[in-house]
Amino acid sequence: MAAISVHPISAFQDNYLWIIQNGSHAAIVDPGDATPVIEYLGTNDLQLSAIICTHHHADHVGGVEHLLDVLNLRGKIPVFGPASERIPARTKALSEGDRIAVPGIGLTFDILDVPGHTAGHIAYFGHGMLFCGDTLFACGCGRLFEGTAAQMTASLTKLKHLPPETKVYCAHEYTMANIKFAEAVEPDNGDLKLRKAFCAAKRHRNLPTVPSTIHLELATNPFLRWDQPAVQAAASLRLKRDIGSNPAPALVFGAIREWKNTF
Ligand code: ZN
Ligand code: FE
Repeated sequence: MAAISVHPISAFQDNYLWIIQNGSHAAIVDPGDATPVIEYLGTNDLQLSAIICTHHHADHVGGVEHLLDVLNLRGKIPVFGPASERIPARTKALSEGDRIAVPGIGLTFDILDVPGHTAGHIAYFGHGMLFCGDTLFACGCGRLFEGTAAQMTASLTKLKHLPPETKVYCAHEYTMANIKFAEAVEPDNGDLKLRKAFCAAKRHRNLPTVPSTIHLELATNPFLRWDQPAVQAAASLRLKRDIGSNPAPALVFGAIREWKNTF
């Protein structure tokens, strides 16, 4: 385990493709673009041993076939992906309850179904790491393209209950914009102010603000904080009605998510 390291490879405007290395082997998570991955593998003298996909969007799977072809790995390494979505060249169709052993890097991950952003979105959890694609972001969450607020609330509830020290490897650098919105929801959240200062310093040096931790998300991410009076009050204002002292999580989450869509 000591030999494991995880690095972000930047792609497009704000995507992170996560590469998990162990010795001379590596697995890539959500390769939306093959080119920067091939460059990284070459520069670091790494052999690709698996491709891991969280959902079907092009910025997450667009480089899968190119990687397999350019590296001549078609049929030689597994392509993991959600069972209910169309993933190019997928060889292992996964859903909740599955556990995978990733060749080369020697890690196992448990699969969680996290529908909401897409209908079949999955997340990979193991060894204190969560690869959650576009479901949970640093201080934010994915848009509801194919799912409902109730589904996303249930998905995020699963992630809330992971060990607090779990590192959250999300797929985009959206953190500063998310923090700006979170401040509008919870202007008095002191942890959020600290997080803003910390993340702003990172961005000034052009460093990633991720991975974060479940612990930090629980303290600052408005999309996990539907049980907080301040977040419920913000939802009430958006909905223009009193939602009482014990509102359904999906009601609060849905109101905050809709607000973010136009923020
Ligand atoms: Zn997506
Ligand atoms: Fe994405």
